[in-house]
Amino acid sequence: MAQNNNYLIDQNCVICSYHPETIDPKDLGTARGNTKRFLSTRFRLWKCPKCHTIHSIDPVDFADIYRDYPPNRRTLDKFAKGTLRNLLRRLEDAGLKKSDTILDYGCGNGVFVSFLRACGYQNVVGFDPFFADYAQAPTTLFDCVVANDVIEHVSSPRSMVAECARRVRPGGLLYIGTADSEPVKMMNTDAYLLVLHQPFHRVIFNQDTLIKLVNETEMTLITTWRRSYMDTLSPFANYRFLDEYNKALDYNMDDAMNPSSSKILLRRPDLFFYALFGYFFPCGWDPAVLLRKPKAPAT
Ligand SMILES: [Zn+2]
Repeated sequence: MAQNNNYLIDQNCVICSYHPETIDPKDLGTARGNTKRFLSTRFRLWKCPKCHTIHSIDPVDFADIYRDYPPNRRTLDKFAKGTLRNLLRRLEDAGLKKSDTILDYGCGNGVFVSFLRACGYQNVVGFDPFFADYAQAPTTLFDCVVANDVIEHVSSPRSMVAECARRVRPGGLLYIGTADSEPVKMMNTDAYLLVLHQPFHRVIFNQDTLIKLVNETEMTLITTWRRSYMDTLSPFANYRFLDEYNKALDYNMDDAMNPSSSKILLRRPDLFFYALFGYFFPCGWDPAVLLRKPKAPAT
């Protein structure tokens, strides 16, 4: 135990650089994983008391943890179509055009890439270092870069923001969305297993921090959201339903990704209630920002 405490004393906040002399126990917690492989493993967490950023303390081998990552088996089901339609609407409201070049940064198995193509966007590229089909790093600039539910997966969020901003052409758009650390109570992490998503979520922060990070770039912030892009009025496409469905499956994401698990709906009519009305009972947030890169000065 003493060894653990000594280790924790060396924790720096990767966002605000706060370095406590001693760790307040109320800022410490553990959470079990919510994928089959990590269901019975608990991971140590520290929530920075200054900026409320949650750090997953124990180092991981990224290539190893992503080799069987359940969201990489996602399909364009009813939930995905409804929520991604909402995400796309945010970009279209900012002027995204069908002819625009789009980079989905951290695209996983490319479910959003497929969705965009199905919607008539043909110039879409995905990048994900842990998915073989998309492992080629992009080298060009794009009209729009989307990094949705990605920044919480990396060790250095600040570097990722800078890299995404670099990939946007002058006048282009950058969208970044993430999980929200703010509601998470370190004394009761079991209620937040989706948000914490251990050990995959490395650094989880709040809306204020997301805005602070993107304001460190030369881009102009044009819109912010706190409500999840997953929250729609379409049946099944809302965050509350996602959370209740996962809870009914003991927060085992492998089961949640398996279409045959949907038979649980027959035994749990309350899930239908959330499928239809979950929008009105939100239980999680996904801060997001949309930025525009200034146009290059005329020469
Ligand atoms: Zn901090």
